[in-house]
Amino acid sequence: MSQTLQQDLLSRFRSLVPVECFDRYASDIKDGSYFGMPLEPIVRAEERLLSKGERSVAYFSMEYGLSTNFYNVLRPTVPPDARNVTTAHHVFSNLRAIDYYVTADTDHLLDLPIFSGGLGVLAGDTLKSTADLGVSLGAIGILWNKGYFKQSFWFKDGQMPEETDWDPSTFPGLVPLETRVEIPLKRETVRLKLWKYYVYSHDHRHVVPLTLLDSNLDVNSDFVRKLTGQLYRSDNNEWKLYQRLILGIGGIKALEALGYSIDLYHLNEGHAALAFLERAKGLPETDTQRLRTHFAYTCHTPVAAGHDRFSKKTVQDILPDEDYQFMKRYGADPHQPDQLNLTQLAMTTCEYVNAVAAKHGEVTRLQFPQFKERIRSITNGVHTHTWVSPSMAQLFDRTPALAGWREDPTRLKNILSLKDDTRFRGDLWEAHQVGKKRLCRTLRSWRLHHDTFTVSWARRIAAYKRPSLILQDAQRLVDIAKRVGPLQVILAGKAHPKDDLGFTYVNEMLSSIDALDKHRDLLRVMMLENYDTYIGQLLTGGVDVWLNNPLPPFEASGTSGMKAILNGVLQMTTLDGWVVEAADQDIGWIFGWRHEGTEIGDERNLRLHEDSEELYRTLEQAAQLYYHTVDGGRFRVDSGWLDKMIHAIAAAGYFNTHRMVGEYRDLIWSRV
Ligand SMILES: *Cc1c(COP(=O)(O)O)cnc(C)c1O
Repeated sequence: MSQTLQQDLLSRFRSLVPVECFDRYASDIKDGSYFGMPLEPIVRAEERLLSKGERSVAYFSMEYGLSTNFYNVLRPTVPPDARNVTTAHHVFSNLRAIDYYVTADTDHLLDLPIFSGGLGVLAGDTLKSTADLGVSLGAIGILWNKGYFKQSFWFKDGQMPEETDWDPSTFPGLVPLETRVEIPLKRETVRLKLWKYYVYSHDHRHVVPLTLLDSNLDVNSDFVRKLTGQLYRSDNNEWKLYQRLILGIGGIKALEALGYSIDLYHLNEGHAALAFLERAKGLPETDTQRLRTHFAYTCHTPVAAGHDRFSKKTVQDILPDEDYQFMKRYGADPHQPDQLNLTQLAMTTCEYVNAVAAKHGEVTRLQFPQFKERIRSITNGVHTHTWVSPSMAQLFDRTPALAGWREDPTRLKNILSLKDDTRFRGDLWEAHQVGKKRLCRTLRSWRLHHDTFTVSWARRIAAYKRPSLILQDAQRLVDIAKRVGPLQVILAGKAHPKDDLGFTYVNEMLSSIDALDKHRDLLRVMMLENYDTYIGQLLTGGVDVWLNNPLPPFEASGTSGMKAILNGVLQMTTLDGWVVEAADQDIGWIFGWRHEGTEIGDERNLRLHEDSEELYRTLEQAAQLYYHTVDGGRFRVDSGWLDKMIHAIAAAGYFNTHRMVGEYRDLIWSRV
């Protein structure tokens, strides 16, 4: 690009994106480049969002997990601030002497800390696939000044939540804008500052601009400043309502201040439901009805108890009267007359409603019979380029039958044509071994072996996910190891700081691990501190079996298993969420209690005893097949394990956000 073109591009960028204190970023945004990425797609994306001729989408989400630490990493010219780097994770294992002296070192840039778990990772993966598909979309979220929380282990007594201390102003690619918006409320006015982060497509040809709202401004009261502090910290219901109105009302005001011309508003979960109320303000009834056809809502919550509710009094105390009346009209809780309910509001005001897996669609229709005609399901996915392990990506690249998988990940299903190809089967095993060795290298101090059968459970610690199922009767694991061969079990997960039951689980898991110290030669069990996307990628690309044991039907979808199958990691899972749609594809083993009929059931009846019995039996079968496959160092290329790996990768051709966003686009965003 010539120098004049570069200058022209920069001045267009600066007029479209009014960066506050631009001089601080001038060395990173210059010569046609934005933190090491091309500047041109940013200018094009911003211009498309301003254009009336483009049918652009606005996407709202409370959280975004973008894996900025390992995917499309933006490069600043100066080394990152130490607060924006993660260096080490403690480990709690049944080799305590080692835990005490060393940590697992994963020196990497902090993942932009504006997410807590699966909902955020899904939103992040959605933006990446939207960019890959070149759709014009502007995303809205919140700049969480204190992130979610950092988990530290406290001997075997459980987790200690610590504040995430990070620095937005030096985070690579994140820039503050001069733009401000205001939300006038009964008690005070909330003033918001806007930030931008750009999410690039895999080929760097397109971007999706993400606008983040921030209430941490001097002009706000101390209370308001704290609202965009810690994600999912809301000490009382008022606090929680303020956060919802920042996202919904603040989000619409931000889109207006940016001048974006939006055709469709997509709310990822009910948190942003107040967006409709803001757009409908002052419209006559017929226009309000028409506005509904411009709103879509993705419901992720499996049970009614999880929906956001506020007492009428709280809403009346905070929102202007016009807004309160609107909420009463469209968001009254059908079961509790003194409550307003954001799920109800979203269901009544959004023409397009989708659940996140087929099974979740059934459950949602049961819970909301009055909306059942409108509730469809669009099954979740993961962003293939983010979650594929480097060695698998290399194998896919050099396999002619998979040609074009990067442009169109659904082509991974063509892997089925290679089932009888002995050479490919050998290469596939080799690529898996590379991922496993990488994991063992990171945890080398704990002397993990790449030729030992390895299972992982890693996700948010919540009761219905049954985090400690595999440790119910740890002696059974020892017995399996004695009969079949050694086992390695790797666990990770954070419990929400206010979730007392979650705390108890972490505590219980650490104690069970501690009690296994005399069996450490046959059975290595470890729990990694501070589960994040970096560890997620390492594990889903490096273990043999991915354990997923939620109590059906409480897992709406689940996505970590989709990351695992993409890398040929087999599933050991209960029949719930996305798995129901892959149950006949032989991608591993299905065990445990099955949900049938029209009663949702009781979330507290965890069936730990029966289901752990079945888990141990299934685990023994899997270990037998594994050790048959590697038979004392001699690899058996015809093993059924390889068939399952191939089926798993073929299924990953479906369970990705490329396919999912394609469905959003065709069924919702570009409706006729
Ligand atoms: C993928 C991912 C999740 C979501 O996992 P589920 O299977 O849906 O529970 C949560 N946290 C991190 C860090 C992830 O990478």
